[in-house]
Amino acid sequence: MRAWVQNDKETRGGWAEIDEVVPGDGEALIRVTHSAINYKDGLALTGTSPIFRSFPMVPGIDVAGVVEHDPSGRMAPGTDVVITGHGMGETRWGGYAEKLAVPADWLIAIPSSMSNEHAAAIGTAGLTAALCLDALEDHGVRPDGGPMVITGASGGVGGYAVALAATAGFDVKAVSGRSSEKDYLMGLGASEVVDRAPFEEKPRPLGKEQWASAIDVAGGEILANVISGMQYGGAVAACGLAQSMNLPTSVAPFILRAVALLGVDSVYAPPEKRARAWGRFTPEVVKRFDPMLVREKFDAVDGLAQDLLDQKIRGRVVLSW
Ligand code: NDP
Repeated sequence: MRAWVQNDKETRGGWAEIDEVVPGDGEALIRVTHSAINYKDGLALTGTSPIFRSFPMVPGIDVAGVVEHDPSGRMAPGTDVVITGHGMGETRWGGYAEKLAVPADWLIAIPSSMSNEHAAAIGTAGLTAALCLDALEDHGVRPDGGPMVITGASGGVGGYAVALAATAGFDVKAVSGRSSEKDYLMGLGASEVVDRAPFEEKPRPLGKEQWASAIDVAGGEILANVISGMQYGGAVAACGLAQSMNLPTSVAPFILRAVALLGVDSVYAPPEKRARAWGRFTPEVVKRFDPMLVREKFDAVDGLAQDLLDQKIRGRVVLSW
């Protein structure tokens, strides 16, 4: 089968013809139809960060495909499924291959109303955006409470977050470093596009109270500035580090304004959380995502991974053969 493989830490990987995967005990065999490029895939493919934890490794955090065999009998052969996270592309082989073997209980059936292309595109990015919204709503955040600010809006997670939050009735302020994407972001549902530059300045412990809630994919100064700009009792869902792993903030927003910082992980999210989050992707919502899709072929992943890290890609790259 064809797969993008990296054999060791030192040598950059690439496309190769390798032996077909053999499913282990309890594993299903999937024919991959689509994958996507996440920020983490970009780091892995370019060798920018040590994402691969064992070798040989096949990247690709997200997979949509067709069941060839499911030993549990839960999914009939021919069923369209999506699988995201679970350490794929890090600790176990991911989706940049013609076939994939994964534990059968990781498979999520793609609803008949959704294409495999859209399921792969939603993938980890959409799931993470949905989990952020779930976390905020569980905290008591409601649309009538005030504006929600979303960072990294031109990217994958950010774009899905804007569209999902707008669909849920939130007044979405989309933060972006790209003023050229204003029409695109308003089309996804933002009521305003806010320039990223002020968010990159040195954060003050407390700023003007502007946002009732927030979804942040950036970390670093950007997240710190979001936190200091929260209204009293506001809540921030933090899921990314596109700017930095650091968080140069103080306790002031937490102890003086009762701001809540909610961490969100999609990779090892339990099945019940995944099911709830996928439930947000109704046919009406999915239609809204079409402008986000950048349709590309698997062969092009290396160049696209670098473009993604260089902030040259808008929305979400979805890959097919
Ligand atoms: P993308 O590259 O698609 O989007 C990231 C966006 O962030 C960019 O489009 C850009 O938006 C902004 N950005 C990028 N680089 C910088 C920078 N240096 N400084 C400030 N802003 C920047 O990535 P994803 O949407 O796939 O992922 C976003 C983040 O979320 C990543 O850090 C990723 O690791 C994390 N993530 C976490 C998950 C979890 O489970 N917790 C799951 C998925 C992703 P703009 O130009 O509009 O400002």
